[in-house]
Amino acid sequence: MKKKKILVIHTGGTISMSEDQETGAVKPTKENPMKSKSENINDLAELILEDPFILPSPHITPKEMLYIKDLIVHHIQRSKIEGVVITHGTDTLEETAYFLDLTVNSDIPIVLTGAMRSSNEIGFDGLYNYISAVRVAISDEAQKKGVLVVLNDEIHTAMNVTKTHTSNVSTFQSPQYGPIGIVTKRGIVFHHKPINSEKYDIQYVTKSVPLLKAHAGMDSSLLYALKINNIDGLIIEALGQGNLPPATLPGVKALLEQDIPIVLVSRCFNGIAEDVYGYEGGGKQLKEFGVIFSNGLNGQKARIKLLIALESGCTKNQLPAVFAN
Ligand code: ASP
Repeated sequence: MKKKKILVIHTGGTISMSEDQETGAVKPTKENPMKSKSENINDLAELILEDPFILPSPHITPKEMLYIKDLIVHHIQRSKIEGVVITHGTDTLEETAYFLDLTVNSDIPIVLTGAMRSSNEIGFDGLYNYISAVRVAISDEAQKKGVLVVLNDEIHTAMNVTKTHTSNVSTFQSPQYGPIGIVTKRGIVFHHKPINSEKYDIQYVTKSVPLLKAHAGMDSSLLYALKINNIDGLIIEALGQGNLPPATLPGVKALLEQDIPIVLVSRCFNGIAEDVYGYEGGGKQLKEFGVIFSNGLNGQKARIKLLIALESGCTKNQLPAVFAN
């Protein structure tokens, strides 16, 4: 059978790092170990390799995400690729995955993977995850599933997956929803299909959208500080069902009066923030003020979505529908 043409983009992360034997510090290596391992993958697919940068993923910004998106679009148009695999640091992998999910308009499989153990550690999971990601990318069933995240034999959607553990190899989970498929010894098995797909057309990333986490006793001081910082939007990880401490309300109102959209998610990692409570700072009051409630995205992904929606020209009135999806 003819091998599929797969674009592989190496971007850095632990999957491309080694542990210094003397100090124990994990750092990028001169030669990405994943590149020399490509022989193991060549039997599976015809690979086109790109390594635009080797960054720890805390160094990745929306600018690098946009660069990766443009690289994928370029190869879709010029090289007739049939799938994409991206190796990435795990810390911000979910944000890059969701960014690509919202901005690459294509049915081909786009799969991100990474590693929790560096290349010279016992039990290095990088090569295994890389091979699994390529196996998913060449599978016909992976088409039209949006951007996928594959680690530790599980296939997750970009929208729902999150890093849940600092060091465990099963760190990537989709709270509330679970994976949509598994990687077995012999095959790739999908047991669910994502039901929505939204795409935004963006050429730049210029917007400033910070993320705040609410806490007991929170006041308006950080909100006032943001007001003078020319932000374009704000995400707040609110309490429980979607509530804030009363002392935050003057700051919330001040930002809304400046036409800065505020999107609320819950700091609970299961469930959906909704306007249920009628007390001061409760969701009902926040919604009346004009705060937008999101549909279960976590804070970091709601931030990516607001950045992209604003960049694509969505108006304030369109944002509630964007976050209802
Ligand atoms: N700190 C690393 C990074 O995200 C963790 C990893 O890749 O697993 O780059």
